[in-house]
Amino acid sequence: MDIQITKTAAPKVMPPENELGFGKYFTDHMFVMDYEEGKGWYDARIIPFGNISLHPASTVLHYGAEIFEGLKAYRRIDGGVQLFRPMENIRRMNNSAERMSLPAIDEQDMLDILTTFVKLEERFVPKSFGTSLYLRPFTFGNDETLGVHAVKRATFMLIASPSGSYYKEGINPVGIMIESEDVRTVRGGTGYAKCGGNYAASTRAGERAAKKGYSQVLWLDGVERKYIEEVGAMNVMFKIDGVVVTPMLTGSILPGITRKSCIEMLKKLGYEVQERLFSMEELLESLEKGSLEEAWGCGTAAVVSPIGKLAYGDKEYVIGGGKIGEVTQRLYDELTAIQWGKAEDPFGWTYKI
Ligand SMILES: *Cc1c(COP(=O)(O)O)cnc(C)c1O
Repeated sequence: MDIQITKTAAPKVMPPENELGFGKYFTDHMFVMDYEEGKGWYDARIIPFGNISLHPASTVLHYGAEIFEGLKAYRRIDGGVQLFRPMENIRRMNNSAERMSLPAIDEQDMLDILTTFVKLEERFVPKSFGTSLYLRPFTFGNDETLGVHAVKRATFMLIASPSGSYYKEGINPVGIMIESEDVRTVRGGTGYAKCGGNYAASTRAGERAAKKGYSQVLWLDGVERKYIEEVGAMNVMFKIDGVVVTPMLTGSILPGITRKSCIEMLKKLGYEVQERLFSMEELLESLEKGSLEEAWGCGTAAVVSPIGKLAYGDKEYVIGGGKIGEVTQRLYDELTAIQWGKAEDPFGWTYKI
């Protein structure tokens, strides 16, 4: 792939690694390319990071035509840099594009874009365990008209943010509120696509939970409010009587790459994993009986996030004594060892830059 590179005249200073936080700082450059119907993608370029200019009628500003991905470049313990299952993100982005009538990108081109960009910004990949260079590719509709139709013009961009460890203060289980009013999406909707609109629709519930002292909500399905779907912007898993249960991908659930990796890892470790419908009734029953041993969210940002408390109406349940469970900890240890290149990767998940 032919990428025009214009380097910045004012390189930034990399902030101290313990002050990075998430998504606050950005690297020196950004990747941009444009799309036009009939012409395809063109003008692939890396330019200095900065504001962009849009026509006030740009589709994304009115009709929400936007999709994105989130993946990390990890500093291996031997000093190298690697990605984790990047082809999974690339394919998912193209699935999201298909759902939102946005143009797809050739898989190999996208991999070239990611590797070229990460190589150029390598000095921004932090070195401490748990830190990473967070990569955010996104595509948005960019027609300069208010007409409602599938877009004819789009823009793809890639920006990157050196980010700190999610668990600077250790892995502390979080409190989660079961949301029985708002829903994230419905089957037939956009739940399986990683699109900005899903996030816009779900922040209200998150805010309400935060006001009550909970860090996220547990989403139920949008039709019956009966089946468990996700936790915040993460997939969710439960360990009941030794068996791991996770909601099956019905179409309203985002097919997480961490979810997929957890399932594959758990099976390798000898656990039984069930992907199926999992109802609130069944969850409450397991809480009452005490057979719910562990619960955790999983996603790229946190890897795994143990759930220590669950609130439903005015009832609050404690899970696993409010401490991280054995399987949750094991998943965290095994996955992060592969991601940060501390251990062999028997799955072939890592992609060295
Ligand atoms: C991105 C995302 C996830 C997690 O996906 P990963 O590929 O594991 O990072 C889960 N749920 C939602 C809604 C998401 O947007």
